[in-house]
Amino acid sequence: MSKPDKSEGNPPEQGVSRRDFLKKGALAVASLTAAGYILKQDFIKKVFLESPNDSIFTSKTQITLGKWSRKALYHTSRGGLVECSLCPNECRLDVGGRGICRSRVNVNGVLYTLSYGNPCSVNIDPIEKKPLYHFLPETKAFSIATGGCNLRCKFCQNWEIAQTNPEDLKTYEMPPEKLVENVLTAKSRDSLVKSIAYTYSEPTAFYDYMLDSSKLAKSKGIRNTVITAGYINEEPLKELCSHVHAIKVDLKGFNERFYRDVCGAELSEVLKAIKTIHGEKGVWLEIVNLVVPTLNDDLGEIQSMCEWVYENVGPDVPLHFSRFHPDYKLKNLPPTPAQTLIKAREKAVEAGLHYVYVGNLATEKGGNTYCPRDGTLCVERKGYIVKNHLKDGKCPTCGTKISGIWI
Ligand code: SF4
Ligand SMILES: [Zn+2]
Repeated sequence: MSKPDKSEGNPPEQGVSRRDFLKKGALAVASLTAAGYILKQDFIKKVFLESPNDSIFTSKTQITLGKWSRKALYHTSRGGLVECSLCPNECRLDVGGRGICRSRVNVNGVLYTLSYGNPCSVNIDPIEKKPLYHFLPETKAFSIATGGCNLRCKFCQNWEIAQTNPEDLKTYEMPPEKLVENVLTAKSRDSLVKSIAYTYSEPTAFYDYMLDSSKLAKSKGIRNTVITAGYINEEPLKELCSHVHAIKVDLKGFNERFYRDVCGAELSEVLKAIKTIHGEKGVWLEIVNLVVPTLNDDLGEIQSMCEWVYENVGPDVPLHFSRFHPDYKLKNLPPTPAQTLIKAREKAVEAGLHYVYVGNLATEKGGNTYCPRDGTLCVERKGYIVKNHLKDGKCPTCGTKISGIWI
């Protein structure tokens, strides 16, 4: 079990537990409070305004469209004002305004996306890294991201790109045609490359690019996977679902206040998105919960989350508990103790979930897939080394079908 690093931060105040002390520090860093019911626009202003005199609807900086910038989907224009309906932030932008996601801008009364055809990160990763454990195991995903994100998680592990305007990053020129061409080239060199992953930052911030790329990739026999916070409105999500094959959603906690204070988003909207994805045939869903010490690690809350998963999307949707590492604005917190993750996994198993994993931490069982009927080890994982014992997607002992997309 890993112990909190006592060298971090100041010693706890007298009479205050280390847990309370850490929590207080983290929330101070978040510098936000949730005081009862907050109207959506008030909430957005509260979370995103940098000073009380700023406006999220206008921008003082000059915006220049990039070579591949496109008119953005999902918005309405009236006069010079633009209303974006892609995600629950529902930004209203004056001419020159930039959305919370940093990538959608109002240029002369038209909404444009700056994050199109210009990924800042391009890598080939094991699919298990996403993590997607029940989707084409042992294969690789051609992984891309652009700058921008429509959330503001204080623990963001990719904040250098997620919290930067797309045009302020070094990027590759890779419109959908070029992206797909690159994937096909990678595939011809390494047959394990089977999919594209829209990942790292937040693909909702590059929705238009992801959608066009997915359509083209699918027509060429390449699968599409989306690694997202699930903070997206229903209509665009459904449109996306008809072109992609797997979605991993970060369910960041099970507490509206935590979502608002620490992530700048609304839990209810993410739960809605998870149900929508689950309802879409042909899209494989997995859920990840990053367990952050003192902020979302309450076992009662974790139990409620597991029960919600069971009741709303069923026992066969994999749930991963992932270990937090101090980063970005939460460097004052320790990594998640191993015991917390192990107990969270136990809660999920007790709730009836069939496939529960522990990520970012080596544990004896936390990386493996077991048959829910007889406990046979079906897929063994040690880091990214995978041994798949399934036979046609079924348990090698009793023949029970293990949910997932295996070929
Ligand atoms: S996608 Fe961007 S511009 Fe549109 S509502 Fe969300 S944060 Fe605002
Ligand atoms: Zn079995």
